[in-house]
Amino acid sequence: MNEFSKNYGLSTLVNHYAEGGHPHRAHVMPIYQTSLFSFPDHATGVAIYDGSQEGYTYTRAGNPNVDHFARRVALLEALDLLHEQKTDQLDDLAAGKAFASGMAAISSAILARVKAGEVIIAQESLYSNAYNFLSMIAPRMGIEVVWVKDTTASGWEAALQANPKATLVYAETPANPTMLVVNLAEVAELAHQHDCWLVVDNTFATPYCQRPLSMGADVVVHSATKYLSGHGVIIGGLVISTRLGYMKQEIPLIMKTLGGAPSPFDAWLANMGLKTFELRLQRHCENAMAVAQFLQDHPAVERVHYPGLESDAGYAIAKEQMHAFGGMLSFVLRGGLSAGERLMNRLNLVTLGVSLGNVDSLIQHPASMTHVSVPPAEREKMGISDGLVRFSVGTENEQDILADLEQGLAM
Ligand code: PLP
Repeated sequence: MNEFSKNYGLSTLVNHYAEGGHPHRAHVMPIYQTSLFSFPDHATGVAIYDGSQEGYTYTRAGNPNVDHFARRVALLEALDLLHEQKTDQLDDLAAGKAFASGMAAISSAILARVKAGEVIIAQESLYSNAYNFLSMIAPRMGIEVVWVKDTTASGWEAALQANPKATLVYAETPANPTMLVVNLAEVAELAHQHDCWLVVDNTFATPYCQRPLSMGADVVVHSATKYLSGHGVIIGGLVISTRLGYMKQEIPLIMKTLGGAPSPFDAWLANMGLKTFELRLQRHCENAMAVAQFLQDHPAVERVHYPGLESDAGYAIAKEQMHAFGGMLSFVLRGGLSAGERLMNRLNLVTLGVSLGNVDSLIQHPASMTHVSVPPAEREKMGISDGLVRFSVGTENEQDILADLEQGLAM
């Protein structure tokens, strides 16, 4: 796209943004599978190094495929901001950096902001390794973490009031695997009143369903392993932020020193996945709603957690802050763990595996798989009972997913 228009629809934007001008008029950006970029002469090398001239040096610091992917996701996350502002320039509003995994992105985003002696305020219900990083690694660096169980405004406010050294609030909504929904505009406002930044893991929702930056979040983190790449073939992550100084100084320093850079080929694959992002997400969301309604009415199911169901505790907030309700859900089977084991062993079409956001439907049991590293008492506090099953609803034909669940749940 030579002429960028922020008024294009999502698929048009994400397919064409910054695409073009490649060597030999290649339609799609070639893969720059190289660790090194050479300089034509010493003066140019110095200029690229001191930042007075744009250019690449070494793939750990930056690479065209990697940057292309990060810019396109930053565009998606900042789309509402672009529409609200008079500028057409994404670079004036937000920037993104791609990482080798979602966890590299999360740990880097936090370490680029918080120092020893400061406090992080985090919700208790989180993706297991984000929880592990905050509970086991951050304290080793002199960073205190205060957990919030009550995620209403008064719960966050109490934690912020009690911890004047807090500099960062960490939220994930809908949360993995409880599907807990947090009011982002409310938390952002409270965080800012206390001079904290709000960091949001937007992996479950994706920028198709929810754009935290437009609700006041300072930083969005992603596991690009999931919906953004979409096909379950790469591990990747992203940090996207409206804090441009942080993106220009702190994040590149952390990237260069901790080294969580993705490979150019993975970034290229992720870029290919983005081409069908809107199409896939439309189908994921439609299928997930159908599955949630089916499970809600099924006698073998005690409870369904899906923010699109009116019966869900997060429905009212989700309806306000999400454009669509996403492809993830979890449910509690009558009969606990053994009922869960039985279901997972009986499914034919749905794959038993711990990832999510793949075009294929995936099912897993958090208490014995993704969250097994979290001690049982902590799991219980997070809302993960032994009978909880997590379901990533794929893009297969709806009737086939429902038929597989029907036979899997039959008595
Ligand atoms: N955030 C969420 C919500 C996740 O579900 C995951 C992984 O499952 C991650 C972050 C970590 O991402 P990655 O596996 O790409 O490191």
